[in-house]
Amino acid sequence: MHRIFLVPRSNETAYKNYMSSMQGKPLDDFLPYLSSSEINDLKGSDRYFVWGTQPSLHSRWEKMGRGDYVFFYAQGRFISVGRLRFKKYSEDLALSLWSKSTESGEPWSCVFFVEDVQDINLPLLEFNDITGYSLKALQGFMQISSEDAIARIVSKYGSTDGFVASLTLGMDDRALSEVVTIASKPLGDITTEDKAKLDNLTRDRSSEEIERLIQTYAKRQQNKTPEQIEKLTKSYRRNVSMVKILKEKYQNKCQICGFTFKTNRGTFYSEAAHIIPISDATNGVDSPDNIWILCANHHKMLDRGAIEAIGNTSYRQDGVVYELNAR
Ligand SMILES: [Zn+2]
Repeated sequence: MHRIFLVPRSNETAYKNYMSSMQGKPLDDFLPYLSSSEINDLKGSDRYFVWGTQPSLHSRWEKMGRGDYVFFYAQGRFISVGRLRFKKYSEDLALSLWSKSTESGEPWSCVFFVEDVQDINLPLLEFNDITGYSLKALQGFMQISSEDAIARIVSKYGSTDGFVASLTLGMDDRALSEVVTIASKPLGDITTEDKAKLDNLTRDRSSEEIERLIQTYAKRQQNKTPEQIEKLTKSYRRNVSMVKILKEKYQNKCQICGFTFKTNRGTFYSEAAHIIPISDATNGVDSPDNIWILCANHHKMLDRGAIEAIGNTSYRQDGVVYELNAR
């Protein structure tokens, strides 16, 4: 199982180091300090993320292996996670990257490269809850090594991989379980309300992301077989297909005002509104004629009756009838 290492970057030096080396550097910067076989091994990325720790922590650093997880900590929470790609003990390499520690006077010679760096948001309190640790702050480079902490992670997430997946995917188990429940229903049993809920839970994520989420969750929480997981994914795809198709058609732009925005996940945001109220839902309510792609404001206005759908191409607001944008 992959190990998890915790790295603080709370004090100012650590922050400066983080800014200078964790924003990514080209391989050329490291060439004078690496052997040709190391360079060959590392080749292939545009940018490299590097961190280092003090020689006094050499024995902890020594335990890191390729693929292990590295959590970065700042001000009360873990902010990103990467995977160990390569490590090298080198004063020269360390000094080319960072100045010596003002406390120990030593360079950060236990150097390591991380890849696949992703943002997470794990408050220390929550981390303590999950692992059983009672850290008040992350004081220094350390490994999650206590057997109890590992056992807790395994019982909740299946493995350290499952734990990290739940952090990087950023959807909690309750929301995921609702998505899976809806996705598991046969097509005929899916209600308009289900679809609205599904859209609500998944709207600022790509289909690929959701499928990955469902797969991780089904494997981890429900011990589903690969065949069952495949079935679930297919069913999800079918159940969201109309909404996804329409969102793509309108490029997530509100059909009333044209507004959309890019979320911090890099996807564009819109909402799918059912213009026939759920209480009046009959067969065929999920046809494209009954779904408008709207911004959050216009969706709420429709739900609250501030605007009223007239047929499926126009709406009334303050007594005036307007045509929808392209339909
Ligand atoms: Zn709008």
